[in-house]
Amino acid sequence: SPTMPDPTGATPVMAQFFEAKSRQPDALVFFRMGDFYELFFEDAEKAAAALGITLTARGNHGGAPIPMCGVPVHAAEAYLAKLIRSGFKVAVCEQMEDPAEAKKRGSKSVVRRDVVRVVTPGTLTEDGLLDARGANRLAAVAVRGGGAAVATVELSTGEVECMALGRDGLASALAALGPSETLVPDRLFADEGLSGAFKSAGGLIQPMPSALSEPSASEARLKRLYGVETLDGFGELTGAEVSALGLIAAHLETTQAGRLPALTAPRRAGEADVMAIDPATRASLEIEKSTSGSRDGSLLGAIDRTITAPGARLLASRLGRPLLDPAAIDARLDAIEWFCERRPLRARLRDQLRGMGDMARALSRLALGRGGPRDLGCLRDGLASGEAIFGLFGAPEPLEPPPPAEIALALAALHPVANPELAEFRRMLAQGLGEELPALARDGGFVAAGVRAELDQARALRDDSRKVILQLEARLAAESGVSLKIRHNAVLGYFVEATAKAAEPLMSAPLNTTFIHRQTLANQVRFTTVELAELDARIAQAAERALAMEVATFEAWRESAIRIAAAIQAAAEGAARLDVAAGLAEWADDVGAVRPVVDRSMVFEAEAARHPVVEAAVKRAGDPFTPNDCRLDGSGAAAARLSIVTGPNMAGKSTFLRQNALLAVLAQAGCYVPAKALRIGVVDRLFSRVGAGDDLARGRSTFMAEMVETAAILTQATPRSLVILDEIGRGTATYDGLAIAWACAEALHETNRCRGLFATHYHELAVLEERLAFVSNLSLKAKEWNGDLIFLHEAGPGPADRSYGVQVAKLAGVPPAVVVRAREVLDRLEREAGAPAHLDDLPLFAANTPAAPEHSGPSEVEAALGGLDLDGMSPREAMAALYRLREML
Ligand code: ADP
Repeated sequence: SPTMPDPTGATPVMAQFFEAKSRQPDALVFFRMGDFYELFFEDAEKAAAALGITLTARGNHGGAPIPMCGVPVHAAEAYLAKLIRSGFKVAVCEQMEDPAEAKKRGSKSVVRRDVVRVVTPGTLTEDGLLDARGANRLAAVAVRGGGAAVATVELSTGEVECMALGRDGLASALAALGPSETLVPDRLFADEGLSGAFKSAGGLIQPMPSALSEPSASEARLKRLYGVETLDGFGELTGAEVSALGLIAAHLETTQAGRLPALTAPRRAGEADVMAIDPATRASLEIEKSTSGSRDGSLLGAIDRTITAPGARLLASRLGRPLLDPAAIDARLDAIEWFCERRPLRARLRDQLRGMGDMARALSRLALGRGGPRDLGCLRDGLASGEAIFGLFGAPEPLEPPPPAEIALALAALHPVANPELAEFRRMLAQGLGEELPALARDGGFVAAGVRAELDQARALRDDSRKVILQLEARLAAESGVSLKIRHNAVLGYFVEATAKAAEPLMSAPLNTTFIHRQTLANQVRFTTVELAELDARIAQAAERALAMEVATFEAWRESAIRIAAAIQAAAEGAARLDVAAGLAEWADDVGAVRPVVDRSMVFEAEAARHPVVEAAVKRAGDPFTPNDCRLDGSGAAAARLSIVTGPNMAGKSTFLRQNALLAVLAQAGCYVPAKALRIGVVDRLFSRVGAGDDLARGRSTFMAEMVETAAILTQATPRSLVILDEIGRGTATYDGLAIAWACAEALHETNRCRGLFATHYHELAVLEERLAFVSNLSLKAKEWNGDLIFLHEAGPGPADRSYGVQVAKLAGVPPAVVVRAREVLDRLEREAGAPAHLDDLPLFAANTPAAPEHSGPSEVEAALGGLDLDGMSPREAMAALYRLREML
């Protein structure tokens, strides 16, 4: 970094800092000094500002004080989290030896230090820094020849995936994965055509030297990462896939400082395997996150009944990437059905899952050298739960009839006899690992008594010596007649302490031959004796020996865990699969969801279906949710391909549209659906556009964005796609908007030939039913009752008779006088059908309302009111207009 000073003339410690910094120039260096991580120079300035901590100075370099700040090691995690969230990378430079070791080499020699890890958003593994129920993926992108690829690793669990696709597919694929960090070769980073795709990835975009993605370098690195001679075992990886995986390998090599995570073989998914959902659609349907960014209010939030964090992550990953293969979808549905039929077993399973920690993340921390005894405890308890779960399923006799493949597979991974290494490892930990576990091995005390005889001896010596200390204290006090205590601190070890007054006899003959003076404080004097010093050394030695043995035992256990990593990962995944299937069955029972039929037909037939999120919200408010049918047929044989959906504002048009899109997502993700029945011919791509008019805050310029998105649909939707368009053309003038909506509907029908729902407030579009072969009209019904409007939320055939904008205004609390006036204007307009020029011969608003009798001409408010396009307004817009009107008073 240009602002780092010249290292010439640095003290030995600062020279170490400069060395670390030169290897990680774009990271903040956390430089370990005793109980603190210190930051220097520009790093200190940046970190102090980002963390809100004090910037101080330390020593001198090049004639100027060195800017410095520090964070205590025990609280470092919270500071790290904050820096990573603020977009920094952090290189952790540790002390690699005990300061005492360095002293042995000579009084001037400094403790060895080295960067042990570079922390970036995609390489976090600490529980405290991660969302337990969400993935934290590191992705890499590569393009080679005509093909592109995305590879990901979830470092916290070791899961690796890759996907070969076309350049056009990058945006959807990245949006589906939602990586927290994406590695991009310089060359692609500079490619403007791809910047949109990178933006849709979210998270940090990390440019990497393009050379790192070169074929031979990538291949070599990948082999090294997996410790294999050939990549053949991974199937036919494309060149782009090898490059993307190679980039990940390169990043892990630098950030993990040589520690290799326990990675799974790359799991491959092709573009042809998953439903394409572009970033805008994903966001507008609120599949994994609501528009506010939280899980609450999203589809995932509504259906997630999983117990364990790995289960929650698996469900999220499935919902984010619905499948295309009916057989694979059926395999997931079979498992849910099986659990729907076995409630008691399901309840017992879910109970047992509560004892299951996050084995995959614990294992990964152990493999990366960041784990501790608690992570071993997590494996021990998790494997025990796994065995208990296996036992629930009728073991040792095989289940009759055999369970569906998805469940059988999960049980096989938990089978204690089929996986003897797991059972053995668990037994070893059950015996050897204590109950109260420290986070770090060097804190000791985690190896159970009775496991290693030498350890027990060392501990006994250590603990007995403490008793001996107490005896010695009593004896010294009795012999000297002085009231004294034996105490301990890190500097002096054990010492005798007495108050200044009581200590006087100890400092004069004859006692001063026994009591050797060490230290005088304000009120206390400290001594040692030959006997005490010997005892001190023996105790320290025993404690050190005990700790060394514990650390060695931990290392041995850690190594065994790594040796059987694949089996542990499989067991963890098995439990997660059971959790997902049982959780979805639980949800299906809760809300009354059914098994969908997914096949290769072109139909979409939903019977009495509901919107899972809106239904929950409506019910919380104490209202019923009205189920609706929807029938589309891409072949046009059984039903229309495209339905034009009309109805007043607030009638439930958007809800209806989204509900059907969500049914497709749920069904193809292999979930039950909230409906009486659903049959769906696989949807290859899902598109959803919501009109700009619904987003008041974003303003008019979004019309452009809306058109860009619409253009994407018209160029990409295939006859297998499902498109929902909500109020297209709303962000522009009426005739423009109508013209655009009309043309889009025609194009979808004639050219794309996809299944679609097209909601509009342009009732003129209703005539398309007569003009186009496969279009039908649908409307959400409302009725007037005693001058009030009642929404039935019922979708039925035929167009809406009218738009009820005036009634909606009334519902929204627009003052009665305004509503009355609007009704007059509307009546006149309807009578004179489309002749707004004649509006001026309407009697004036002021003339028949007592509100403003003294005005002779239309006031500003009245003029503004007259200019409102009530039919074209959402309730929010109506509210905003109302506020504007009130401002004018
Ligand atoms: P529109 O798009 O026609 O303006 P929305 O779909 O936004 O209407 O629905 C407005 C409100 O009506 C929703 O927030 C919800 O509270 C309620 N609603 C919609 N559909 C239903 C339904 N099928 N049953 C019950 N309430 C519904």
